[in-house]
Amino acid sequence: MIDSFDYVVIGAGSAGCVMANRLSADGVTSVALLEAGARDWNPWIHVPVGYFKTIHNPATDWCYETEPDPGLNGRSLKWPRGKVLGGSSSINGLLYVRGQHQDYDRWAELGCSGWSYDEVLPFFKKSENQSRGESQYHGSGGPLHVSDMSFRREICDDFIKGVAELGTPISDDNNAADQEGVGYFQLTAHNGRRCSSAAAYLKTAKDRPNLTILTHAMAERIGFENGRAHTVQINHKNVPRTLKANREIILCGGAVNSPQLLQLSGIGPGQLLQDHGIDVVVDSPDVGSNLQDHLQIRTVYKTTQANTLNDELSNSWQKMRAGITYLTKRSGPLSMAASQVYAFCRTRLSNNRPDIQYHFQPLSADSPGEGLHPFSAITASVCQLRPESRGSITIKSNDPNDHPRITPNYLSTELDCQTAVESIRHARQVMATSAMRQHIKEEYVPDPRAQSDDELLNQAREISNTIYHPVGTCRMGADSKSVLDNELRVRGVAGLRVVDASVMPEIVSGNTNAPTIMIAERASDFILR
Ligand SMILES: Cc1cc2nc3c(=O)[nH]c(=O)nc-3n(C[C@H](O)[C@H](O)[C@H](O)COP(=O)(O)OP(=O)(O)OC[C@H]3O[C@@H](n4cnc5c(N)ncnc54)[C@H](O)[C@@H]3O)c2cc1C
Repeated sequence: MIDSFDYVVIGAGSAGCVMANRLSADGVTSVALLEAGARDWNPWIHVPVGYFKTIHNPATDWCYETEPDPGLNGRSLKWPRGKVLGGSSSINGLLYVRGQHQDYDRWAELGCSGWSYDEVLPFFKKSENQSRGESQYHGSGGPLHVSDMSFRREICDDFIKGVAELGTPISDDNNAADQEGVGYFQLTAHNGRRCSSAAAYLKTAKDRPNLTILTHAMAERIGFENGRAHTVQINHKNVPRTLKANREIILCGGAVNSPQLLQLSGIGPGQLLQDHGIDVVVDSPDVGSNLQDHLQIRTVYKTTQANTLNDELSNSWQKMRAGITYLTKRSGPLSMAASQVYAFCRTRLSNNRPDIQYHFQPLSADSPGEGLHPFSAITASVCQLRPESRGSITIKSNDPNDHPRITPNYLSTELDCQTAVESIRHARQVMATSAMRQHIKEEYVPDPRAQSDDELLNQAREISNTIYHPVGTCRMGADSKSVLDNELRVRGVAGLRVVDASVMPEIVSGNTNAPTIMIAERASDFILR
């Protein structure tokens, strides 16, 4: 059976939901939105703290794992990616961060004309419904709700003061003129509920007669005719189907799945494709390369008082009370995002702009998504904002159901290693400030005995984790080796674009959801123009 549409959008994540909404907005253009996962009916998706239930859960997460990484002393990491309407925006930490102006100006410098900060700002604003109202840097009236968190507590306030003692200014908006500063995050949330890309962009569009949303619809291959992408083979609820795109196919599968599907469809490194018996449509060596991610070093400190979430959620009665508070007031611990306080700071390795970011949490666990520790403790996670290490995504076979090989190559350059060492030292300095030291009983992670650069680097290799920001694997650019041109069209064929986090030529200095939504706003503008 062949169904035909003007546009077929593959993947209903942060970017795909934007594309489906904007392209079908005229009520006439027919759009099919394909999502491999389910509808977002799971109630935990909508509760901010619900990521504890949705990550590492095969009902909502692809449950990827990286290859053993030499930079992490051979450890492999779990790499959650949303597999549900809303994609990773349905399971993420809700933090609304855009990065630095210089990130986008750098994209333009690299040859991505049309992507400088001044050119992308209108698209951040277009997407946004900022609860503080419209301003030079913020939009109101857009689909994506951005609001302040209701959660404040003394130990978070003291962390802010501690970072400020070391010279970073206190700020209330890291998305304005200058990112540098420390303060409470803003969230993609509305009235205590998550505002995923699906909640923002599909809620109002889903009943349009010209928009068809298929869940449990896994795209397995893109088909080409005379150099033009024109069909998508899918497995829809275990039934093979073919969808035809009269105008364009738009791949929004995210930084892992988009290069995977291109490679399965014959666009990628020629030798790799041949090794797996795939006919080469375009020999495009960079498909799947240029993988970048933020690596978080989660430092954990035991506290002197029972004033952390570890204490407040330590038994069933307290958890039930938190549930009731959430249901009756939409506040309390369940309304919390993954982190509460940001700090964008400069280490001595950075000359003129922040090179590390803190995610501060008044709680601790062995790793994200696992049970809280049975003692009072806080987490000051710190990551390098612009790592130089580069990895790759490559198929392991020509079976679309086989997870691809994920090779991040963390901590594989000198700067990244030095920044990891500086990050741990910086966290220790914060904990020693007059604002914070009253709270600190002892350092739990890293090992307090680690003091030399080598020992600290080894600790970083042992304890760090992804902060879930893979990007760059289908980079755009002006050079002929880039996978996409600057309007995100796949080089070498017609009728195919990639629109998601994979298009970034370099990772932005911050969390990646808002930038990905901006990319999709920008792309839909290219197409509609
Ligand atoms: C646990 C976690 C926490 C995070 N926290 C934050 C945060 O607090 N703030 C922030 O800014 N960023 C955060 N991020 C990162 C951010 O959410 C992602 O960068 C962003 O959502 C990526 O958007 P995307 O459109 O590229 O991909 P995704 O949102 O992952 O969307 C891809 C979609 O395509 C679907 N798909 C893939 N392949 C196929 C196929 N073959 N057929 C059909 N459908 C397919 C997937 O199921 C998915 O729904 C977090 C991410 C995770 C996983």
